[in-house]
Amino acid sequence: MIMFIKKTTILFFFLFLIPLIIFSQKSKDTEIWEPKPNEVYSSSDSLPPDDAIILFDGLNLSKWKAKWSDKDSGWQINDDDSVTVIFDGSGGIETKENFGSVQLHIEWKTSEDTSHKNQSRSNSGVFLQNRYEIQILDSYKSPTYVNGQAGSVYKQYIPLVNASRKPGEWQSYDIIFDAPKFDSDQNKIQSGYFTVFHNGILIHNHVEILGTTENVGPPKNIAHGDGPISLQNHCCSQVSFRNIWVRKL
Ligand code: MG
Repeated sequence: MIMFIKKTTILFFFLFLIPLIIFSQKSKDTEIWEPKPNEVYSSSDSLPPDDAIILFDGLNLSKWKAKWSDKDSGWQINDDDSVTVIFDGSGGIETKENFGSVQLHIEWKTSEDTSHKNQSRSNSGVFLQNRYEIQILDSYKSPTYVNGQAGSVYKQYIPLVNASRKPGEWQSYDIIFDAPKFDSDQNKIQSGYFTVFHNGILIHNHVEILGTTENVGPPKNIAHGDGPISLQNHCCSQVSFRNIWVRKL
């Protein structure tokens, strides 16, 4: 009798209960309808989407200032809507606005003058929060230390591939920067991350930023808040920029 009840229970379980559970689930149980993502329009892949903050479009550098002073930038704006670095000892230029996590698009061009070598060939860099550099350099068949070549998270991560174009050709970075977080006791509680595309090719896939990208010594992790985006004035051969825009994340 007990055996019969057990068999009946098992039969009931498989024949009725499990199908009941399965068929009582509906597709709409896992559908999410609200809140809707913002509608953002982009007319082409090379133009900024309509929610982007335009940092430079060729007209002027009103969104920027000299890095080491309150002076205006002295960089040279060209007829083709680009701007070229002037080696004026200003350290570079930085945005007047501070940013946290962002998506950043920037186009840049190294010089056709290839008389300089290694780190002196069209060296610049994009710094997020004035601390974390994605290197800009002529790395087209121009050797240097690989954790300092174009696209490197300077002295921290070698790019996955060398996507560099020839000197004088326009190139692009699309950078996704997750800013690090610090608590009220100045401790880092969450690392920052970089994902970077160079000329549309993935060169960093969500790499953990170890701290500031120092030329000398290890990375530093001193607490900070939002900060400017800056472009480096290094030496010795020219670098130009165009079409710079950012989206806050
Ligand atoms: Mg640099």
